[in-house]
Amino acid sequence: MDGLRRSPNVDVCVLGGGINGLSVFRELALQGVNVLLVEKGDYCSGASAALSRMVHGGLRYLENGEFGLVQESLVERDRLLRNAPHYVAPLPTTVPIFDIFSGLANGIVRFLGLTRRPSRRGAVAIKVGLGIYDFLTRKRALMPRHQCRGRKATLEKWPALNPAIRSSATYYDAWVSHPERLGIELLRDGLSAGPNAQALNYATIERAGAREFLLHDCLSGETF
Ligand SMILES: Cc1cc2nc3c(=O)[nH]c(=O)nc-3n(C[C@H](O)[C@H](O)[C@H](O)COP(=O)(O)OP(=O)(O)OC[C@H]3O[C@@H](n4cnc5c(N)ncnc54)[C@H](O)[C@@H]3O)c2cc1C
Repeated sequence: MDGLRRSPNVDVCVLGGGINGLSVFRELALQGVNVLLVEKGDYCSGASAALSRMVHGGLRYLENGEFGLVQESLVERDRLLRNAPHYVAPLPTTVPIFDIFSGLANGIVRFLGLTRRPSRRGAVAIKVGLGIYDFLTRKRALMPRHQCRGRKATLEKWPALNPAIRSSATYYDAWVSHPERLGIELLRDGLSAGPNAQALNYATIERAGAREFLLHDCLSGETF
């Protein structure tokens, strides 16, 4: 608050210090923009503290033909694996397979955008999807390619699985152990860019006009 009192002029005010707000704040700060981030609670205390912790490339979106989205997500996933290996690690994921051809007709209909209804996927649909996933990451190849196992090998490795299983496929995505800490690193990165970047938690914007806004400090009750 003291820093803001000394230089109250900002070009951009980012509302919300979840992972998205913090990322925008960092990007702007690194580009030298005069930016203020305002978070009404603690940083990364909303959805960004409650995620399932998967850092995935969106394998299932392939079924909807959203190749661009999957490619972009895979690039970001691999960036996190490279830039934040202290928080983001490979996540081997195994899909149990109970038949060969199911899901193909529904997959085509979904691909054409005629339905969003999910269906059980058989070996062929899963193999095609995982092949595309590997193809999209072939140049970076940070993690092993997918691997298929027959019924015997699957049950030997995971004896508690449903014995009706026909095969299984293991592929790699990533997971983040401490998403809040990753958020704090983005914040510190942005703040270290220089005096143009400022951030406040436990504060809100009470009123905003075209050229000025009223800031409320939730801790002291002060309005500024
Ligand atoms: C159950 C669940 C599981 C998920 N699992 C995953 C997963 O495995 N992988 C994945 O990538 N994504 C997952 N997501 C999605 C992911 O959590 C969100 O996409 C992401 O956290 C959104 O970040 P955000 O910064 O937009 O929102 P938030 O983290 O919610 O941040 C918004 C912030 O804005 C603040 N705020 C709101 N209004 C104001 C105001 N007026 N003034 C100041 N501050 C304000 C809030 O206090 C909050 O801190 C999951 C989501 C849910 C709900």
